[in-house]
Amino acid sequence: MSAVLVKGADAVLTGHAGEEARAGAVDIRIRDGVISEMAPALEPEPEQGEQVLDAKGCVVYPGWVNTHHHLFQSVLKAVPSGINEQLFGWLGAVPYPRLTRIRDHELETAALVGLSELLLSGTSTCADHHYIYYPGLDAAMADVLFDVAERLGIRLVLCRGGATEVGRHPGYPNDMAQESLDDIISDVQRLANRYHDPSPRAMRRVVMAPTTPTFSVSPDVLRELAAAGRSMGLRLHSHLSETTEYVRYCREVHDMTPVQFCAEHGWLGDDVWFAHMVHVEDSELPLLRESGTGIAHCPQSNCRLGSGIARAPEMARLGIPVSLGVDGAASNEAADMAQEAHITWLLHRALGGANATTAEEVVHWGTDCGARVLGMDGLGLLEPGKAADLVVYDLDQPRYFGVHDLAVAPVVAGGSPTVRYLLVDGEVRVRDGGIPGLDMEALRARAAEVTRALA
Ligand SMILES: [Zn+2]
Repeated sequence: MSAVLVKGADAVLTGHAGEEARAGAVDIRIRDGVISEMAPALEPEPEQGEQVLDAKGCVVYPGWVNTHHHLFQSVLKAVPSGINEQLFGWLGAVPYPRLTRIRDHELETAALVGLSELLLSGTSTCADHHYIYYPGLDAAMADVLFDVAERLGIRLVLCRGGATEVGRHPGYPNDMAQESLDDIISDVQRLANRYHDPSPRAMRRVVMAPTTPTFSVSPDVLRELAAAGRSMGLRLHSHLSETTEYVRYCREVHDMTPVQFCAEHGWLGDDVWFAHMVHVEDSELPLLRESGTGIAHCPQSNCRLGSGIARAPEMARLGIPVSLGVDGAASNEAADMAQEAHITWLLHRALGGANATTAEEVVHWGTDCGARVLGMDGLGLLEPGKAADLVVYDLDQPRYFGVHDLAVAPVVAGGSPTVRYLLVDGEVRVRDGGIPGLDMEALRARAAEVTRALA
């Protein structure tokens, strides 16, 4: 049972947008994983066994909520054959040829790398879209991911991908067998029984998440997967409208826009969120808004693959929930939510002018909105009653010296601010830029060995 006081921060951002975004220089009291009190100059309560965490010289944000990732790609960064390729060429050059070479050991290594990187950037929740599934796979993929997340103490939302129509996807390995509808539903049911916790501060969730609605499954299967996921009380997630080719394929094959296609097959709703949504037509926006469908905005991956820039500020103004995701590190080439926030803040200003995005709004997308699209009402905000998921950034590097408004420094100055503390559910998971109990040199050597093997 945690009793913690985060004391002396220079500034606290709450994760709210607008006037409630700034809490000022308040201390944060935590009891049993939940924020119990926020006010200036709180007195320590040693009689309660309270641990005081010194936050002088620091700013405090809610822990970032990363709503779209592919952890297995953390050992596939900067593969030379894909470094200048767009989405389909990159898929065919980087992840797809290696799918059957990634087993328990490789996945565990990649997950340790990716989740460590997320923790060290201030992230407390990760939604991982894992899609390496095929008949005969003798590796316990989802179990490996949940195990690594538990060891590191990060919240994991496992979005169970998969395909029943592998031949449709450009670049997909033709020799890979496809799963059946029953294969997917029975495995999702097994995972839900074992891991899914519907409570608002869950450490583990499971989501129904075919790899794409358009290429990976037939329209009938798509509809059945939505119904099966909902019958198990699970949310729905997938990739949508990442590139112009993606949209063109959907129009040619299904004679609909991607969002219309999803609407026709039960794939819109306030229990659904899609990664990317780079190419969205005006006619699709009301469908998203009225259904409450959310997006995982992944600007670094979209830049890296030359996919374009999603209309995120416009969607947010319309009331469409916009969250942030790093996407797989093979198309990023990192998994750093603070960096993702910095790029988000910059990118939309280049397009829409200097008032297109504010730092507070970007933090709101990356925290409160992330928790909302994941349906985790107990997370994402710093206020009494919410989970004690918070990052204490130490502005101890020259790039943060001379900043007048410290509250926004981690977003506007960029870089990698030192994480003095990261708390997940009130437990310290990062301390002074390190992960207690993790041998980073050993992980580096292990990652190098796996990376060589996957060359
Ligand atoms: Zn993705």
